Amino acid sequence: MDDLQYGTRDKRGNWVPHRRAEPVPIWHRPFNARKVLAWIPEFLWPWNAFHMATAIIWVNLLIPSWDSLATFSLLNYLWLYGLNAGGIFLFYGFFELRYYFQRKQENRFKYNPKFPSDAPSDAFWFQSQNIDNFTRSFFITIPLWTLVEIVMLWAYANSWAVWLPWTTNWLYLSFLVIIAPAVHEIYFFFLHRAIHWPPLYKWVHSVHHNSINPSPWSSLSMHPVEGFLYHAEAWLHLLIPSNPVCAYFTLHGAGFGAVNGHLGFETFELTDKVKLDSHSYVHYLHHKYFEVNYGGDGLVPLDKLFGTWHDGSKEADEAMKARFRKKKEKLRAKQDAPDGRASDMPAE
Ligand SMILES: [Zn+2]
Ligand SMILES: [Zn+2]
Repeated sequence: MDDLQYGTRDKRGNWVPHRRAEPVPIWHRPFNARKVLAWIPEFLWPWNAFHMATAIIWVNLLIPSWDSLATFSLLNYLWLYGLNAGGIFLFYGFFELRYYFQRKQENRFKYNPKFPSDAPSDAFWFQSQNIDNFTRSFFITIPLWTLVEIVMLWAYANSWAVWLPWTTNWLYLSFLVIIAPAVHEIYFFFLHRAIHWPPLYKWVHSVHHNSINPSPWSSLSMHPVEGFLYHAEAWLHLLIPSNPVCAYFTLHGAGFGAVNGHLGFETFELTDKVKLDSHSYVHYLHHKYFEVNYGGDGLVPLDKLFGTWHDGSKEADEAMKARFRKKKEKLRAKQDAPDGRASDMPAE
């Protein structure tokens, strides 16, 4: 497949899609019902459908009995950890193996032409982005994800949370499922914005940002504070009447869904004719420029609202640079003032 039909590559080899990132059609004005209808399959398939499938499989086939989940057991914890670690190993590992290790697609549709394994850096444990990201994911973030999960299951098993059955509440529960990806974007936006506050950035979020050129293993490479709070979104279900499948849909949308921002390719050529859209570009730009695109890729356009949206265009680049210049000037003015305090230094 010729990626230059779909984008351009600059002198340094960076590939930029022709199609500008934009909020999903429900936000377009004038409202266009046909566009919204055409977007719905893309919203459901394949990513959200995948998270729903794993949620159903986990609740109905894989988790321990509800009786045993009513008390905390190390064995249950290890089993749940094994499921999550195994699931991530297979799911993220598929993309790593095929597109980063075997390089089946070389760098067609790859935003950054380089591969992390070709660039050793002191920013990482063992100077390797792959080893660093993998270790942090499997030994820090996934154990914390599992902690969130086992507490959530304990709350359901002990009736601390209101568990509605699908048979009588299918309409309300379906509504929860449909809005869950939007709630995720809102939750993620504000959490992410908060950890970009310079002191928190330095302490917490800089770990995730070491990967300027992310690969799937980068997705869950987080400081423990971020790894825990990121997955704790699933606890929102404990505050409202809900159902374990809905809670798992949120949990897996976070855990498995984190990969979407870090795939590094716009499109995967699964076969000669079948393409898979990665939805990675917006968050890729966040890793590249740091202070743009704090939210997802436009399901809820909070970045547009707060003036931090970057759609990949030259105009967005100029707007971003103007914003940075303004911030610097403000900072300089503050430093020059007699009691100047430089408390809001921009993050790196
Ligand atoms: Zn990221
Ligand atoms: Zn960030």
